[in-house]
Amino acid sequence: MKVRADVAELLHAGLPDRAIARQLHVDTKAVAAARSALNIPKARSGKRPAATPEDLFWERARPTDDGHMEWTGYHTKAGVPGLRHGGRFYTAYRLAFRMATGRDPEGYALPSCGRDRCVKQGHHMDRADREREQRVDALYAGIFGTPK
Ligand SMILES: [Zn+2]
Repeated sequence: MKVRADVAELLHAGLPDRAIARQLHVDTKAVAAARSALNIPKARSGKRPAATPEDLFWERARPTDDGHMEWTGYHTKAGVPGLRHGGRFYTAYRLAFRMATGRDPEGYALPSCGRDRCVKQGHHMDRADREREQRVDALYAGIFGTPK
């Protein structure tokens, strides 16, 4: 059997039959026949593992020129950036916080870098962080006095 050069090329590149059929507008059966004619083993199943919320995060976060990150995805009515995954809503702040610290935030994770709606890792504080900062402020005030 004669195999089209473009089909053969994608088969050798390791693409699954269905992907090749879709890309070159040919029948899946024709691709499968070409595969066996060329004696190329079947590509791994086209089924990909479910993306994680973090995977989806990276598709929607875009670095800014000034060292922060902005969200190109969905915002709630209140303007909170976030995404849906597995029937759950995750705020981008929470995901960024978890990626930066390796743990879930206590209470809300909110931007602490001064840029509205920033989603860059390490630019958020949770309740525990905010309370710690207040304690430090109080401690400094106790040592140096309250700034006038
Ligand atoms: Zn930031």
